Amino acid sequence: MTDVYEQAYSLARAWIDDLPNVPAGAPSTLGELRDLFEATLPETGELPEEIIPDLAHRARGGLNANASGRFFGWVMGGSVPSALAADWLVSAWDQNAAIYAVSPIGAVIEEVAGAWVKDLFDLPRDASFAFTTGCQLAHVTALASARHAVLKRAGWDVEEDGVFGAPAIRLISTHNRHDSIDRAARFLGLGRASIAVVETDALGRMDADALRRVLADTSGPTIVSLNAADLNIGAFDNFETLIPIAKAAGAWVHIDGAFGLFARVSRAKAHLVKGIEQADSWSTDGHKWLNVPFDCGIVIIRDSHAHRGAMAQSADYIDLDTGGRNQLDWNLEWSRRARAIPVYAALREMGRSGVEALIDRCCAYCSTLVERIGALPGAEIVVAPELNQGLVRFTRDGASDEENATFTDEVVAAINDTGEAFFSPTIWNGIRAMRISVVNWQTNDSDVDRAVAAARSVLEELRRA
Ligand SMILES: *Cc1c(COP(=O)(O)O)cnc(C)c1O
Repeated sequence: MTDVYEQAYSLARAWIDDLPNVPAGAPSTLGELRDLFEATLPETGELPEEIIPDLAHRARGGLNANASGRFFGWVMGGSVPSALAADWLVSAWDQNAAIYAVSPIGAVIEEVAGAWVKDLFDLPRDASFAFTTGCQLAHVTALASARHAVLKRAGWDVEEDGVFGAPAIRLISTHNRHDSIDRAARFLGLGRASIAVVETDALGRMDADALRRVLADTSGPTIVSLNAADLNIGAFDNFETLIPIAKAAGAWVHIDGAFGLFARVSRAKAHLVKGIEQADSWSTDGHKWLNVPFDCGIVIIRDSHAHRGAMAQSADYIDLDTGGRNQLDWNLEWSRRARAIPVYAALREMGRSGVEALIDRCCAYCSTLVERIGALPGAEIVVAPELNQGLVRFTRDGASDEENATFTDEVVAAINDTGEAFFSPTIWNGIRAMRISVVNWQTNDSDVDRAVAAARSVLEELRRA
């Protein structure tokens, strides 16, 4: 009888090997996928060896090939081989990385991975850190620590007394912030109304004088959240100027560096994040640019006491006093996946120089894609990338902006329909555009050629129509 683990391995292996040939975007429709899967809860069980091949067969049409080098939608990432393989081991080992006692190796590898990550980004070596499910919960962790610290300075113990009746906290950012900052503010009881929006320049970067004005109008506990690369064009706030202004006003400075913090690893791009080390907390993702499998955000916090004060808990029935790392003192979760292990593997596989090469390669391919697609008849560059994100749009002669927006959507959908490449549409400064994001270690010259060829043939056809 075939072994279910062998089956899963060969199915996974076939998917990986076939990535250059599969459609970049999932070919099936929502209706088709529901038809394939919707059923009543089975009353009796089935054999694992029957479930797994059937599951993989039915799932096929609903898989986006974001693991391939031809996927440029959103900001997705990929998985370097050792990280994916380590993730398989993590599942097989089934470790609960909650505290040292329940997974000694989960705790020890996390200590090492955390130290390596601080070294990689050249952030304070005595800062605390946590591996979260993603950047969203990295923000929640960081802003919970910020909430702890700024309210403590105001004489309020938020862990004991909660947020009702506490001095109001102001969260200062720009319109260019990611929605996950707003959600973190909501989860933490700050509410969306606590967010003060500072004006930006045309590229969405916070204006220093405007920040000064907002700070002058603000009294009490304050948090400033800055962007290390926005989703659309990878715009960076000017940390060197802004952080000292915020700090002088007594604010806690948080950085959303979901992918942009990786500019710190590239000597060619490090100027974009100059001064970022002066912040109080930094959120980033392993599952985006570090190319580890999903379920990996990272937060680094300068004031480890604030971090621990916000997160730590103790329960009598567990053995916490082991000397090892107890992750629940730094994380929102109790039971959790040993998600630092794939990070450890990826950093060993690439080393500092390999991560730098990955960043530089992605940035170079993004520039090439934007230039080559932007140069096609019917295309124009909206914003050329400074990092790994750029925008193009598609136009017809004499068409209005509205018509061109519709046309851009049509072209994106038609490129995606070819299966050769996948892009996602966006709106930037009121302009409907196609976003080009390069975040995958696998992207190569041939992937770029195929994407450009797909765009060319779609444009030729649609402009004739
Ligand atoms: C992706 C992203 C997030 C959210 O990260 P998740 O890992 O999806 O939770 C936040 N901010 C920015 C700038 C992002 O690109």
